[in-house]
Amino acid sequence: MEFRKEVEVAKILVGGKVEENVVEIRYDPLTLQTSRILKKTIPMQSGDFQEEIESTKSWCPFCPERIEQMASRDPEIMKGELWKRGEGVLFSNLTPYSRYSLVLRLTEEHYVPVSEFRQQHFYDAFKLIQEYVKKVPDGKYYITIGMNYLKPSGSSIMHPHIQVMISEVSTDYFARLEWSALEFKESKGVDYWKKLAEVEKEGERYVGRTEKTDWIAAFAPKGFFHFTGIPEEREFAEMSDEQFNGIAEGIVKILKYYGKKGLNAFNFSMFCADRIGEHFRTNINIVARTPFAKYYWCDVFYPKMFHDESVVFFVPEEYASEIKEIWNEL
Ligand SMILES: [Zn+2]
Repeated sequence: MEFRKEVEVAKILVGGKVEENVVEIRYDPLTLQTSRILKKTIPMQSGDFQEEIESTKSWCPFCPERIEQMASRDPEIMKGELWKRGEGVLFSNLTPYSRYSLVLRLTEEHYVPVSEFRQQHFYDAFKLIQEYVKKVPDGKYYITIGMNYLKPSGSSIMHPHIQVMISEVSTDYFARLEWSALEFKESKGVDYWKKLAEVEKEGERYVGRTEKTDWIAAFAPKGFFHFTGIPEEREFAEMSDEQFNGIAEGIVKILKYYGKKGLNAFNFSMFCADRIGEHFRTNINIVARTPFAKYYWCDVFYPKMFHDESVVFFVPEEYASEIKEIWNEL
């Protein structure tokens, strides 16, 4: 496993003096996809958006008083019912992304500050989704579970919700992950994520452990404060309650850390190993987005849009050490 990077130094004149700026270009150890790390200050204060909370609440389809009427129903696997557990409600996506496409309403509250999500929210969500995944007919499907939270993350509805995409055709990046993982397993005899957890365990990007799960800061981040969770149990449909608790706890800890830094928007994606093969292991990736405020700024610009190149302003080894110090208190 190679952690390769190139460094470029740019010179600029500041007040008559030459200043040197370092840009690090890092290669993802699995896919070799590159990310650029440069140091830049961005506004980290979220400001007040109470007006947005109130106005979106007046029409929100996921709020308890509307969800029964407005949620779209799955006529096949769910037989027209909504599946519920704790505060979680599972139903069909009105605008499907794939053959099986679901939405999971995560909380009863319309708006939840990132630091206030609870382990139970995610645990119940995973249990409901697992029940569904187990009923999907035989065949090769690519299963991803993702979340966008608040407008900077691309979310059109504020109310916390998770999306599930179960497709016969992988997304572009999932395909890249899969063939890179196959090559890795064939040459090293072990799956990439298991090896990554082993290699990173003693290193400066290791963050901490929750039940049956290791958490690390990604070497070549795809977004701000990118963390990866690596579960002991490989396939989502087979995961135990302990495994779900471990994943849910890790997500909540990272969200609390984001909250402490003044960040409020995030994306996560879980790439599931189910129906793929021994070379793949379910892995969870989470990034913070620029904070939502009245005039928030979007962090996806032309390098990401057209070059598929992530540009980030924070160094993984630095934030790994910061979160590691407080991991047990989060
Ligand atoms: Zn709502």
